[in-house]
Amino acid sequence: MKVAFFDTKPYDREVFEPRFKESGIKAKFYDTRLCEDDCILVKGCDAVCVFVNDDINSKVIDLLSSYEVKIIALRCAGFNNVDYKYAASKGIAVVRVPAYSPYAVAEHAMALLLTVNRKIHKAYIRTRDFNFSLSGLTGFDLHGKTVGVIGTGKIGRVFMDICKGFGMKVIAYDKFPVEGSDIDYRPLEEIYKESDIISFHCPLTSETFHMFNLGTINRVKPGVVIINTSRGALIDSEALLEGIKQKKIGAACLDVYEEESEYFYEDKSGNIIDDDTLSRLISMPNVIVTSHQAFLTREALQNIAATTIQNLKDFQNGIETENAVK
Ligand code: NAD
Repeated sequence: MKVAFFDTKPYDREVFEPRFKESGIKAKFYDTRLCEDDCILVKGCDAVCVFVNDDINSKVIDLLSSYEVKIIALRCAGFNNVDYKYAASKGIAVVRVPAYSPYAVAEHAMALLLTVNRKIHKAYIRTRDFNFSLSGLTGFDLHGKTVGVIGTGKIGRVFMDICKGFGMKVIAYDKFPVEGSDIDYRPLEEIYKESDIISFHCPLTSETFHMFNLGTINRVKPGVVIINTSRGALIDSEALLEGIKQKKIGAACLDVYEEESEYFYEDKSGNIIDDDTLSRLISMPNVIVTSHQAFLTREALQNIAATTIQNLKDFQNGIETENAVK
């Protein structure tokens, strides 16, 4: 089997290259993202390996099909960037890595919350400049606060456990609640109304697109802290900015952003940023943006590589995998 590996970063290559060699699968690594113009690169390959911001739309799938690509291997959990139904109609399989380390993402969500609340990002810069003033660094105790978790899957549940360790009251909403669990499920409206902190851990679907919008922002507790480590488009970014400007939202921790594919994972420090909403959000003292890095731990990368290669080998050997996206 030969795989065209797109959107390669040094940390991907370091982990994947030895594992591909070991498995006997040949891989060609490309820095570029998979898009219509670059489909020629898949020539001679049976598989493509892609990440969260490769846009695998129907046109790309038509081209993959014309090059006789048989499988699209996502090296991530979310699959909103792949038209998997169209791929199926073309006889191309789609597989993903449903779980690699829920701890990596949940711990990052908590790291963001602690940072924004206790102003660690500001304190770090101050003390490096020998500014030891504490003015403006007041936070609040997490202990006793209510956190609303939206999506009680693998990551949401780890995040809930972490929050419980801090002595927080945890309430949750999920469209498909875990039956027989001790999770304190509430209607979504109650989550918005009662939470001091809201953390998003549900997938991006047509139903969850912009689920947090101007309407919902008007119904949250004043000063609420919003955490999104799931997918950017769960939140209407312009509405979030408006909520922050109106001081309705106390703080926002964003590891994902709805238009992130233009910027995230790349060094844009020498560029003029066209996205005014992103620029304005980043300029806010109570907003922390990380560049979709919640997954980035050594353990997660090793697990991603192991599962991706197993998915490809299973496909090669005609073994049906539960990691297929259907
Ligand atoms: P999961 O499938 O285990 O859990 C998702 C949960 O969301 C499920 O319990 C499901 O029932 C629930 N859900 C589905 N539709 C819903 C809706 N309309 N409203 C509320 N809940 C709904 O997934 P997971 O592994 O916990 O991952 C959660 C999300 O985190 C993924 O969808 C992915 O987008 C994101 N993610 C981000 C990173 C990162 O680096 N930032 C890494 C991995 C995953």
